[in-house]
Amino acid sequence: MRVATLLVVAVASAASAGIHARTPDASDPALPLLQLIAADVRADELRATITQLVAFGTRHTLSDTQSNSRGIGAARRWAQSRFEEFSRACGGCLQIDTPEQSVSGERIPKPSQIVDVLAIQRGTSDPDRVIVISGHIDSRVRDVMDASSDAPGADDDGSGTAAVIEAARVLSKHKFNATLVYAVLSGEEQGLYGGKLLAQYAHDHHWTVEAALNNDIVGNTLGTNGIKDATHVRVFSEGTRSTETPEQATRRRYNGGEVDSPARNLARYISGLANRYLKNFSVRMVYRTDRYNRGGDQVPMLAAGYPAVRFTEAIENYTREHEDVRVENGTRYGDVLDAVDFTYLAQVARLNAITMASLAMAPPPPAQVKIDGAVSMDTTVSWSAVPGAASYRVWWRDTTAPFWSNSQSVNDATSLKLKDVNIDDWFFGVSSVSKDGYDSPVEFPGPAGAFNATPGAEAEK
Ligand SMILES: [Zn+2]
Repeated sequence: MRVATLLVVAVASAASAGIHARTPDASDPALPLLQLIAADVRADELRATITQLVAFGTRHTLSDTQSNSRGIGAARRWAQSRFEEFSRACGGCLQIDTPEQSVSGERIPKPSQIVDVLAIQRGTSDPDRVIVISGHIDSRVRDVMDASSDAPGADDDGSGTAAVIEAARVLSKHKFNATLVYAVLSGEEQGLYGGKLLAQYAHDHHWTVEAALNNDIVGNTLGTNGIKDATHVRVFSEGTRSTETPEQATRRRYNGGEVDSPARNLARYISGLANRYLKNFSVRMVYRTDRYNRGGDQVPMLAAGYPAVRFTEAIENYTREHEDVRVENGTRYGDVLDAVDFTYLAQVARLNAITMASLAMAPPPPAQVKIDGAVSMDTTVSWSAVPGAASYRVWWRDTTAPFWSNSQSVNDATSLKLKDVNIDDWFFGVSSVSKDGYDSPVEFPGPAGAFNATPGAEAEK
């Protein structure tokens, strides 16, 4: 009873200070460009892409690279030809690159070429800031070393590859402040080699990767158990960052930040966009880097310090993934085309496209976010000025709440004192907002939450 009374007092005093609880997605007006982009994503385009990918027979990383009709070489060259086609339509707006590396390992017995296909759409005002979408073009059957059997890989990961190509088709018609990268990766099934190559490429080209959206298994809606879910997509995000130093970990354990890595605040941002722009479709955030004990190409990006998340369908069908195409005791096995729900995949692709557009139109999140106010009734939140930001929003939420719930806008300042909001009781963050209304993701204070952090370089305050 005592506790309840105190809570009411706290809320009442916050309200009297002109602070209102709000959700980031419900009350904001929809931005016309994002609506246009969502409407332009088409299920029939996605179907045509996966139909072609399946027609290459197998896209196993160690399959034939010379043939123009079968194997991963043919598939890669076809993906590249799609990017070239989009680039011709936008006056050469896509720069296409095919980084490659000879690798060998447990699942690659003799040195083999891993080749990624990248299409790069340079930002107009902020070209070093990069938003990536990725999917893996390689496929497999039950035996991960079987490079010759038919491995249609319609869902794993024809679906993610199709989402990448569709994002390129739709977004290349528009111009953005930041750079967009469309990445078709290889070697995932043999050991995330294409993702490692992408992370290396990003590092070598001095990209400031604000977000990497990895799409892997995003087109199935019927679970192995017969349960259907066509209205959610899972977004997996790491909790504490892969690049956290022991000193940073010690401070974070003490003050919090376990659930506020940039990847996780990116997941919250994506969830907000789904609620705002997509009907009957929402994000199920999962507080994990990937499915339990499994991996994907977002992992090497996280290891390099880049905020990255994984999109995966809400419910998987394990008779489809990594299986030989066959019928056994009346059950169909194999990752075949007709198991893909293209209407659903279009929703996932839409969410990726509007996320990329929104991030690339918004300013970057503020850096150097700090909070002060110990032994005080008030909290002061401060940050560095962001070029291109017209205003900022300071956010706070209960320490056990999954989503940011309270915010206050401020123009033209780099700090805000929140009266009667006690620093001990809330988590805080800041987003930046462009003059035309695009929000950045929310950045949590310190190294635990920094979007643009050089591992270990940002000193603890
Ligand atoms: Zn996969």
